Amino acid sequence: MNRIIRASAPAKVNLVFEVGQLASDGYHPVNSLFLALDLREELTLVKGATGTGISIYVHGESIPDTHIKAVPTDHNNLVHKTAVLFAAKLGKATPDLQIDIHKRIPVAGGMAGGSADAAAMLIAMNEFMHQEHGTERLSIDELALIGAELGSDVPFCIYGGMAIGTGLGEVISPLEDLDFETNWLLCASSRGLSTPTVFAEFDEIGKHSPFTDLSEFASISSAEELGMRMTNDLEQAAFSLMPALSQLVEQLEQLGAVRAMVSGSGPTIAALFDSEAKAIEVSEVLRSQGLVALTSKGLAQGARLDS
Ligand code: ATP
Repeated sequence: MNRIIRASAPAKVNLVFEVGQLASDGYHPVNSLFLALDLREELTLVKGATGTGISIYVHGESIPDTHIKAVPTDHNNLVHKTAVLFAAKLGKATPDLQIDIHKRIPVAGGMAGGSADAAAMLIAMNEFMHQEHGTERLSIDELALIGAELGSDVPFCIYGGMAIGTGLGEVISPLEDLDFETNWLLCASSRGLSTPTVFAEFDEIGKHSPFTDLSEFASISSAEELGMRMTNDLEQAAFSLMPALSQLVEQLEQLGAVRAMVSGSGPTIAALFDSEAKAIEVSEVLRSQGLVALTSKGLAQGARLDS
């Protein structure tokens, strides 16, 4: 019987997202503080019948159907690209695989959903190739290096916890874990925002901040202090592309969030609460207005094999 390999990886929020000026290579350098949340993508891998290639099935009940339908199931899926790249790195042919992706992270929402899938796939492939082809398992650092070729958020999804991301966000410096639990409400939008469009709008606005030292965040001891220090350079760009987002941020803070902010390039709004009960209570208010509101905790472990 075919062995089943299960792996999962976390969503991220950027507690701080400082974006530099567009460089000549067409990319923006960033200085980012990532936090992993216990909203996990779950991936299941089984060997496919010989010659059937890679089949991908995507499902998820907690996010809108429009999100699930926006995920490609062909070679454009990041998980497909991960399988091809990983096998090539080991000098092997791409194996026949059946992959099931249980999505919990809003799609195109600035929470690294596709990157989490790629991170989980790297962990799963590492195990699959070891079991099927006897290849040596790569270390987490080696997997993160391969992950950086797939997307700049992939290395963080592999490490999890809390970390500073520099370069394009793919150079990860882990920080010590916060010594308190953070409670989040994530309000997803029914339509996504494309990351390049948000960066283009950011360039149009033309306001860059200097990069700051983010290492002190590890000593923060309360949600209030954390909330006061959260910033996102892309927030104005996301507001200008989707003006309803700024009203949602205001509403969440009026309803009791310590701080609400666009997550990464948006349009998901991440709202920090000082208790789980309050986050749940406000999520129910938003749901009664027809919005998609998920609750989650930070910080969370990076990509891992699950039993
Ligand atoms: P980030 O926060 O890393 O910028 P995001 O969370 O905003 O990313 P994703 O959910 O990763 O965005 O999806 C961006 C696009 O990538 C989707 O619109 C989809 O077309 C494509 N995509 C490819 N593979 C996947 C995948 N496994 N899951 C989600 N989207 C994928």
